[in-house]
Amino acid sequence: MSYDSNNIFAKILRGEIQAKKVYEDEFALAFNDISPKAPVHVLVIPKGPYSTYDDFVNSADEAEIVGFQRAISKVLNVTGVTQTGYRLISNAGMDAHQEVPHYHVHILGGHPLGPLVCK
Ligand code: AMP
Repeated sequence: MSYDSNNIFAKILRGEIQAKKVYEDEFALAFNDISPKAPVHVLVIPKGPYSTYDDFVNSADEAEIVGFQRAISKVLNVTGVTQTGYRLISNAGMDAHQEVPHYHVHILGGHPLGPLVCK
């Protein structure tokens, strides 16, 4: 999937659209999902132009990959879900119903999430 720089998360990164920021560093921005599916529902996005997990892992340099993973861990601590548990999800492409074509990781938690359900 080629990167579309007009996607909504690219606009958030450029400051053209506001988001409720939870955490930011040189590699990542984290903000609350606009339509939360759990008491904690935060999206973590890399600052570079990557469309999916595999695009990110194959195109980003090692500092970005490590920095992004560490940023996710920092957000887990900021939101407090490390105590009670959490789920990380990253949708990619049509079958996963990826809505926004900028790579992102959903952090879900804050209450029992139930089993992972796939139709
Ligand atoms: P996905 O289906 O994995 O691409 O998920 C995209 C997520 O982005 C959905 O959970 C949306 O609720 C969320 N979303 C879309 N627009 C915004 C926005 N402007 N601010 C925060 N979250 C958003």
